Amino acid sequence: MGDTRAQLLDLSVDDANAEARMHEVRKWFRDNGWSAPDPQVYDYRHSQEVSDGPGPLLMGQLDPRRPYFVFTFIPGLDVYYLGDSTGGPKCRKCGEELDIDKVARMIQGWLDSGQEPDLTCPRCSWHAPWGRWELSTSLVVASFAVIIDRDWHVPIGQDWRTAVDPYELPRHFVEQLQADLGGHWVFMYFHD
Ligand SMILES: [Zn+2]
Repeated sequence: MGDTRAQLLDLSVDDANAEARMHEVRKWFRDNGWSAPDPQVYDYRHSQEVSDGPGPLLMGQLDPRRPYFVFTFIPGLDVYYLGDSTGGPKCRKCGEELDIDKVARMIQGWLDSGQEPDLTCPRCSWHAPWGRWELSTSLVVASFAVIIDRDWHVPIGQDWRTAVDPYELPRHFVEQLQADLGGHWVFMYFHD
């Protein structure tokens, strides 16, 4: 138990368009007041990438004594996964979880070919591209990610003293990004 992150993945972007998408999405976070440029800020797990600190809208919702909140924007094809207890994708129809060893073996082929595999549920036969499965505790290939780091023990909200699920805001970002910018946004936890 150590690091925790929220991973916001846009599965609609390919490697060639990842850089352009990064600029578009970062502008969205800044324009909406969620993030702000800060050359001092970085995520040590992704120290080569561009990071923003909290923007004016977010600052008002953070504990002013500990306003730590880092957005890191990562273009380029990579594998994203939950971390120390990664599970298989879950069926959206019956909830069945696919065997992690089986799907993990398919990841390299996806990276090499750039072709997203289809998966079939062994229990109910639901059939869909990998990215359409429930992936919040699983793994996937993506060409663009926003990684959020903060002190997850500190609540967030209009009043920072009121306990709120700290992942509510990252999930809200996913919904808003989907509505405003389109694409195919997926939320995934990270625990190491
Ligand atoms: Zn199923």
